[in-house]
Amino acid sequence: MRLRTLFFSLCFLFLSTSAWAQNPAAAEASMEYYLPQDVTYDSSIPTPEEVLGMVPGEWHVRHDQLVKYMRAVADASDRISLQNFGETYEDRPLIYLTVTSPSNHGNIEQIRQNHIALTNPSESQNLNTEEMPIVMYWGYSIHGDESSGSNASMLVAYYLAAAQGAEIEQKLENSVILLDPSLNPDGLNRFASWANTHKSENLVTDPNSMELNQRWPSGRTNHYWFDLNRDWMLVQHPESQGRIETFQKWKPNILTDHHEMGTNSTFFFQPGIQSRTHPITPERNQNLTKAIADYHAEKLDENQRLYYSEESFDDFNYGKGSTYPDVNGGIGILFEQASSRGHAQESIHGVLKFPFTIKNQFLTSLSTLEASQNLRTEILNYQRNFFEESLNEGGDADIEGYVFGNSSDQARTYHLAEMLRRHNIEMYELADDLDAGGESFKANSSYIVPSDQKQYRFVKALFERRTTFTDSLFYDVSTWTMPYAFNMPFAELENSYDENLLGAKVEGLPSFPQGEMVGGKSEYAYVFEWDEYYAPRALNRLLKNGVRAKVASKPFTGVTQNGTREFDYGTIMVPLGPQKVDRAEIHDLIGTAVKEDGLTVYSVGTGLTPDGIDLGSGSLEDLEKPNVAIMSGEGTSSYEVGEVWHLLDQRYHMTPTVFPLDRVDNADLDRYNVIVMVNGSYNDFGKQDVEKLKRWVQNGGTLITTKYANNWAERNGLANISYKNGEDSDEEEKEETNPKAYADMDKARGAQYIGGSIFNTKLDLTHPLGYGYNDEDLPVFRNSTLFLEKADNPYATPLYYTEDPLASGYISDDNLETLKGSAAIVVSDIGSGQVISMVDNPNFRAFWYGTNKLFMNAIFFGQTIDGGSGN
Ligand SMILES: [Zn+2]
Repeated sequence: MRLRTLFFSLCFLFLSTSAWAQNPAAAEASMEYYLPQDVTYDSSIPTPEEVLGMVPGEWHVRHDQLVKYMRAVADASDRISLQNFGETYEDRPLIYLTVTSPSNHGNIEQIRQNHIALTNPSESQNLNTEEMPIVMYWGYSIHGDESSGSNASMLVAYYLAAAQGAEIEQKLENSVILLDPSLNPDGLNRFASWANTHKSENLVTDPNSMELNQRWPSGRTNHYWFDLNRDWMLVQHPESQGRIETFQKWKPNILTDHHEMGTNSTFFFQPGIQSRTHPITPERNQNLTKAIADYHAEKLDENQRLYYSEESFDDFNYGKGSTYPDVNGGIGILFEQASSRGHAQESIHGVLKFPFTIKNQFLTSLSTLEASQNLRTEILNYQRNFFEESLNEGGDADIEGYVFGNSSDQARTYHLAEMLRRHNIEMYELADDLDAGGESFKANSSYIVPSDQKQYRFVKALFERRTTFTDSLFYDVSTWTMPYAFNMPFAELENSYDENLLGAKVEGLPSFPQGEMVGGKSEYAYVFEWDEYYAPRALNRLLKNGVRAKVASKPFTGVTQNGTREFDYGTIMVPLGPQKVDRAEIHDLIGTAVKEDGLTVYSVGTGLTPDGIDLGSGSLEDLEKPNVAIMSGEGTSSYEVGEVWHLLDQRYHMTPTVFPLDRVDNADLDRYNVIVMVNGSYNDFGKQDVEKLKRWVQNGGTLITTKYANNWAERNGLANISYKNGEDSDEEEKEETNPKAYADMDKARGAQYIGGSIFNTKLDLTHPLGYGYNDEDLPVFRNSTLFLEKADNPYATPLYYTEDPLASGYISDDNLETLKGSAAIVVSDIGSGQVISMVDNPNFRAFWYGTNKLFMNAIFFGQTIDGGSGN
């Protein structure tokens, strides 16, 4: 093996000198350029060129190559083992390396348990942190098109495996490094493919070149175009689920998060803007971040690099990789390197070459290692104190715990419980029915989260409402109050609740709720309510298989085989009589809905009801299977297209067409009965396209538009909506304080931006868009400043903002005033079709389980909205 390796290195050295001489960027892609030359390297450790036939920086590494290299290093080195922690949506392996001294490897599980003991106040006092290694998680390129990190990770792994001498051995003895070479394999691969496909033999540095301008969708995001660097707290995707499991298993002290930013910038490392740190994060965390920063500065100074800190980027959103550790007793560090995007690009600092960017990620990995050595016990002690303090704060908190649960939607309850458990939050089943905070909680479908636990700070971060802030600039969300996002009944428990309320402790993840078949096999009809989160999946399965299903537009009392029961608006009825499908198949499909979708289905033996409509009534309307097209491509938000695609595909097992909007002209739109247009400009639609879409709606289609797609629809006569403009309080102010200080401009403008906050709305529970909801108060998420007037037709605004709309998060006073009483959804009649204008995005980041149903109602029941009720 060694001989062969040597042979390859020699060959490569020989071959490559002539190639590198041709262009300067490639000339820099050499191991000598990257690696410190003051140590020797173990020749039994393969270099990237030996395994892949290229030096990092010559090409953008594909994910399979990256994994191949990491396996080779792990195989060759007794300092490294490789762990697999899952698969991406595209079935790419998710891996990390555990890097430490060979003797630590022999004892790794004991080291891990000791480290976790440091986070348990009941055990942590007896531990001597002087003797404990520091644990780090080094993560690269969570944004796939910020790939210098992943490309550098090969050099980092090589260095850690191959560098010789007492110094590195000492460092490895004192550290456990979990090295995650690619936090977003699918995105990395998409981008590598783009950059390599368009690379020229003679590097082209013109910023206009195809290589440097990815097309829609970019490589930033994962398979469904989600930003994984917002998913650390939400954990809705397999990449994060595996990673958070590893994180919680190890509770690292330092987590690094290597990114890229604009080509004309330099290099950034945290701390960021101090006033934008989440208030739950202790001040000591930011001080230690500063202490670590000195080492990055020193390393970059030595290499004559320009850099900055403290001026941009925040540490507020625990959904980000560099902030998530801050609420877990660790320290997250964000790095941002100016991006060459492809292999080289002109910038104000000259031609920025890919190898240069890779080297900076490598250098700051080394400076992280330096810092971790000198600050090791300080940082370990900080972690011990963090959890002691967290436990003490929880024990002293006025709110002694939280209870949550929704007995009519067990799947949604399950998903919130699942999220909490992924963060290792202590949680119990509710042992007895409980009335609290104006809500009733059922024993078999609710959970209690006590404040008296070491994860208290995280619990508080997930449940709290926050409406005052030290800084008014939020370029991302300013709140995420989880019970609101899940539209979940919850209560804050005060005044020492009864310990007997704590039922079984939830270990591991909760199990998915089982549905129930009430009354056994039916000979007449099956009935289920629309409340359960996965009801649309069951309905879609029935319709897809050609089963007739009807929706009740009025309530009724059904005679089930277990007595009478009230059924609400939106109840689904599957008759066994007028069907083209075999009865046995219908029984099976209903059985699947009970087993896999968590539905309670009632067997009904007669069409006659004691109250309300009978089962043959015209108020039970036949449903068509939705055939959905999601308009996509340049001019639409890939995030929001991806959210709809993910929702329908992953959660509801539907088969929407992600429809490139330049195909409208050629396509037969009659294949679809629902078209979704998410946030976007839609500037590429020509006159003909507009006419075609209009005809499609007039012929009975349901068009759903969200956010700025509403403007497009309104401009083109496809929606009867009008905008609400703010009181121009600015006018008065202008006269008073004109001119203003130039330095205040960004701040004043930024304060009007809504990065993402939660608001109170009122929902009409009798409207098809309100089916499956039981409470007219519905929290919604908003991250735009688009304000709509209520419709003239009093039946056309099924959802609107209350007069006291702020539930949690930041909004300026002017915007809050405008928002009051404005419309959240307006329905317009266009011919025999309808346009459903949603001001907000109900599917935000896959964790707004509470408003997903609004969207699914538009998809399934838009077709049933009465013509006269639209604006
Ligand atoms: Zn980034």
